[in-house]
Formats: sequence, C-alpha cells, structure tokens
Amino acid sequence: MEISKFKCVRCGTCCKWEGAVRVTEQEIDAIAAFLGIPLDEFIQKHTYLTPDRKSLSLLEKPDGSCCYYDDDAHACRIQPVKPAQCSAFPYEWNFPGWEKLCKGAQQDEEE
Ligand code: SF4
Repeated sequence: MEISKFKCVRCGTCCKWEGAVRVTEQEIDAIAAFLGIPLDEFIQKHTYLTPDRKSLSLLEKPDGSCCYYDDDAHACRIQPVKPAQCSAFPYEWNFPGWEKLCKGAQQDEEE
C-alpha cells in the first residue's frame, strides 16, 4: 500500500498499539483544560515519565492501549485536543505489520 493513499477510518489500531503517547507541555495544558482537571493533578495522576526520561506520556490501559481510546464508541475521548503523535500515524511512526491491522490501510486494497 502506498502510504499517501492511507485514509483514517478511526479503527483505533494505532491507539491500541502498545507504547508511549508522548505529550508536549502545550498538549498537556490543552488536555487538562479539556477534561477540566487541574494541571498539576493531570500531570501527577494521568501521565507518566517515559523510560528514556525525555517526555511525559498519557497512561495506558492494562492491555497497552491508550487510556483515552473508547472501545465501545470506537473513538478518542480527547479527539479535539489529541496529541500530534496521534495524527502522525502512520506517516511519522508505525509498527511492523500495521498495514495488516489498520483498516485505513486495508480499505485501499479493497477498492
Ligand atoms: S489520545 Fe486519542 S488518538 Fe491518541 S492514542 Fe489516545 S485514544 Fe488514540
């Protein structure tokens, strides 16, 4: 699949992939405000320091998926303020075999 033909269909594959969802200071401000949580509380209770100690990440569920992915609604609960990393998939980051799992890639093959 040519990556330029990718079209997100909100399947949530990237949200459910294990790993950090890195957030910048500005993104943390925006997400905390969007959720109505005081900034300090949001940082303390809703983020963690990544192992390389270079940034904060949003928390993950026990299965490794992002804590803001709503499985029932198949949607991001912070969509209006989601981090840039989320929009960068699959152009700036992806993972081996993503084309087989992501419906945004598969639909291109079905056309
Ligand atoms: S913040 Fe939203 S778009 Fe980003 S990984 Fe989490 S659920 Fe997905």
